[in-house]
Amino acid sequence: MLTSTTFVGIVLALIFHQRIWCLMCPIGTMSSWLGKNKYPLKIDSKLCVDCKICGKVCPIEIEPYKFKNSPKKTVQDADCLKCASCVNICPKKALKF
Ligand code: SF4
Ligand code: SF4
Repeated sequence: MLTSTTFVGIVLALIFHQRIWCLMCPIGTMSSWLGKNKYPLKIDSKLCVDCKICGKVCPIEIEPYKFKNSPKKTVQDADCLKCASCVNICPKKALKF
């Protein structure tokens, strides 16, 4: 089981995305169910200037700036690791937890 899932993960990573396993992992999915409303990543649409830097540093290739017009002004992506890379790099301080 471990060998076959590792092999599948490596092949899919080579073909599609280097963090493909993070997108598929059932542990991450269950964690997001439990914690999806805790510490949401918020974006201030008035401060964001659409420079797109946040999307370039995200290890999961989420593009936070695309959520600035969402009703809750939060990044609604279950795969967000809450790593804060986007928060730290934003030149306008438009992102925060
Ligand atoms: S880095 Fe900040 S200012 Fe630039 S697009 Fe992302 S949220 Fe907007
Ligand atoms: S907190 Fe990390 S995983 Fe979530 S959107 Fe920002 S850079 Fe991506």
